[in-house]
Amino acid sequence: MGETNSRGTSMTEIFKAGFGSLIRSGPAADPRDEHLRSNLPESIKARLLDLSRDGVAISDLREKSMALVYVNRAFQDITGYSSGELLGRNCRFLQGNDRLQPEIQSVRDAVARRSDVAVTLKNYRKDGSCFWNELHLATFSITGGEPTHYAGLIRNVTAGKAAADQIAQSTRADLLTGVLNRYAFVEDVGILQRAGQGPILLAKIDMARFHDINEGYGYDVGDQVLMQIARRLTSTGAALVCRTGSNDFALAQPLRHADEARATIDMMRQSLAPRYLVAGATISIRFAMGYVVGNRTADAMTLVRHAGAALHRSKSSAFLDVCAFSSEDDRRARNRLRMTSEMQQALEHDEFHFHYQPQADLATGAIVGAEALLRWHHGLFGTQSPDKFIGHAEETGLILDIGARGFRAVADYAARMNKDRKTPITFSFNISPIEFKLRDMPKFVSDVLSASGADPAWIKLELTESLMVDSSAEMLSIMKHLRDLGIGLSIDDFGTGYANLRYLEDFPITEIKIDRGFVKGLAQSRSKRVIVESIIRISRELGFHVVAEGIETEEERALLVKMKCDFGQGYLFGRPVNAAGFELLF
Ligand code: C2E
Ligand code: CA
Ligand code: CA
Repeated sequence: MGETNSRGTSMTEIFKAGFGSLIRSGPAADPRDEHLRSNLPESIKARLLDLSRDGVAISDLREKSMALVYVNRAFQDITGYSSGELLGRNCRFLQGNDRLQPEIQSVRDAVARRSDVAVTLKNYRKDGSCFWNELHLATFSITGGEPTHYAGLIRNVTAGKAAADQIAQSTRADLLTGVLNRYAFVEDVGILQRAGQGPILLAKIDMARFHDINEGYGYDVGDQVLMQIARRLTSTGAALVCRTGSNDFALAQPLRHADEARATIDMMRQSLAPRYLVAGATISIRFAMGYVVGNRTADAMTLVRHAGAALHRSKSSAFLDVCAFSSEDDRRARNRLRMTSEMQQALEHDEFHFHYQPQADLATGAIVGAEALLRWHHGLFGTQSPDKFIGHAEETGLILDIGARGFRAVADYAARMNKDRKTPITFSFNISPIEFKLRDMPKFVSDVLSASGADPAWIKLELTESLMVDSSAEMLSIMKHLRDLGIGLSIDDFGTGYANLRYLEDFPITEIKIDRGFVKGLAQSRSKRVIVESIIRISRELGFHVVAEGIETEEERALLVKMKCDFGQGYLFGRPVNAAGFELLF
């Protein structure tokens, strides 16, 4: 254990400073024990660590990447990586691509606060297989001041976790809130139906922005809110209350007559409405609700599915209106299912391709760049434009696969097109906010660019204003990292989103794309001219490129040149065309 890490701190020093405190024992009665406890020889500590069946790792907080500086044998056995492969890296890579686990956020939060944390989360071994990791992170300091290191204890609890899941399924209650779990709910709905005569009301309720509560207040507050919701629902006197998913609940109530449904739903809504008092804060929460009234012979599973389809419509309405199930919901739900499986197949069969639309220097007409626009070449329905399927891909998460492949394809294309070209063409790629939030963008972009050989300066990411609303430190840091790589960051559809322009100062943006809504009819509308002129003036002052979108006429181009807009895109210069068509332009 005499080895020394890159910073020159010896492991002995680290252990002395505090790691020993993790291996606590009970009160020592015998003074000899007391002596041994405070003077446990290093060789014994080292041997203990080698014998430990829990993995132990230490990372150095003073290094930017919080690199691992020590791993014991069990850590290597559990993860399948050798110490040579582990040391010097941040152990985040054990998460694989599974970044959606809420536990990961808890770990991130704890690390940001330099506090201890214990979670059980899914990790991945070197061979790609997953294991449940009971992780315990504790800080300690070798300087006696601020924490300098994290000690991580990992334990493979895969077997226990599987057993616990089975127990949860065989018991009937949701472990957190105590209301029914979904297996028991479906069973009991069946029993309710058989017991009475009249119709049965089945409602599904979704708590909006649960994720924000977890992020903003912490998971324990999120849990408390869920428990309060369950209590309020139970106190309405509903026959059955169930937690169907992380932030979804369901209710079932026998009715004398179908007319009573709406009043019953309103009563439930009212009981949920008052603000929630947790951890000294009062939080107001909005709920989406969908319901169905079924007769006694309806299949319980079908009722739950129908209430879910109505809930889906409620969730996508601007004011989360309560929605009663209609057969249209069912058709839509089936469509969504069909669409999801078709898109999965389309990915497998490589049916997504890009069209490229030229971007021109407005003064000279020279083509300087292109925007990559996604197309789905559907075997039966022909070429589909993104408006038909991007929304759905975002809802189902398929956008992550589509976007990842797409970005690789565009980077490869940029590398191919710009090979030996004196003035390179820049390629703009549309990034969905979902991708931006859920993927490690800087790492992903840098990996793809180095694999393709494309120069980062050839690539721009088009982002929507909605991302800037979230002016969190994390978003800012992601964007800075992306800029450090050398790629451009462009704000798409500028002027259609949020009016607060503060973000222009805060975020490291390089380009603004004026939405085509302002360009269309520019000559006829004085207010449009005023808006466009001020956007261009602000952009020039802040040093951004300006690209005007949707230029269709010579008149629009001439006006924009007069307003000192440098670049433009639109049917006047060329429609989006496939790669072969795009190459013909040169
Ligand atoms: P957008 O980023 O605003 O893309 C410009 C859209 O305007 C394109 O529609 C383009 O065909 C159309 N357009 C271009 N010039 C003109 C013009 O002079 N007049 C008119 N009327 N329209 C013009 P498209 O290709 O159907 O794309 C629609 C939207 O889909 C895009 O809007 C973008 O938000 C999204 N999208 C496209 N490709 C991708 C992608 O790879 N990933 C993601 N996440 N979204 C994409
Ligand atoms: Ca765009
Ligand atoms: Ca646009």
